[in-house]
Amino acid sequence: MKCLNCGNDIANNLQVKEIFLFNEIPENYICNLCRSQLAPLANRNNCPRCFKPEINGICDDCKMWEQKYQIINCHQALFEYNQFIHNYFKLYKRYGDVLLAKLFYQDIKNWSLKNHFDVVTYIPASQSHLQIRGFDPVYELYADIFDLQPLLTKVDSDKPQAQKNRLERLRTPQTFSPLPAMAQIQKNQSILILDDIYTTGRTLMHAHDIFFKANFKKITTFSLSR
Ligand SMILES: [Zn+2]
Ligand SMILES: [Zn+2]
Repeated sequence: MKCLNCGNDIANNLQVKEIFLFNEIPENYICNLCRSQLAPLANRNNCPRCFKPEINGICDDCKMWEQKYQIINCHQALFEYNQFIHNYFKLYKRYGDVLLAKLFYQDIKNWSLKNHFDVVTYIPASQSHLQIRGFDPVYELYADIFDLQPLLTKVDSDKPQAQKNRLERLRTPQTFSPLPAMAQIQKNQSILILDDIYTTGRTLMHAHDIFFKANFKKITTFSLSR
């Protein structure tokens, strides 16, 4: 198997116990060299609400979300946003290499096996982005792993998030509305909302708020990077 990112061979250094459990190990599409450039967030002093690394206690942003939206942020992420993740998303999103959707398959799949939700949905691309790219990057990142239900629709905003500074991002008004399918879901079901990158948290907070206002009680958000 070749690494989807660099093309190097992926060494299969399986431990004995892994060989016995072979069927349960998710497929791996990233080599050890690429993997060594990742900064996993697990087991660090993360904000307990948003996984911001190296924070002791609840971060200021999460306190603000609580004040502003009455929402207790409940977010998890796998990797700190760094140069490797930046380059990855540039190739995947800007240059539209849809095959890269599977690079983190093993990591996301392992997380999915440990965390269970009744309903899993995702942050959708806007129509204009879909047309430009030809695929929905968040959907493709997770579609092989979760049974995704489209429950949100995104209104096109003035300019893309990536072109905004932090203050502009934080001030962006609500850009999601619920799809009719949301009305079919029972309010006591646990909801997971997926995104690719958590930057200011604004996008997921807006999505969270749609479910919160619709009276859902158990809402968790997740992103590959934070
Ligand atoms: Zn590689
Ligand atoms: Zn936080």
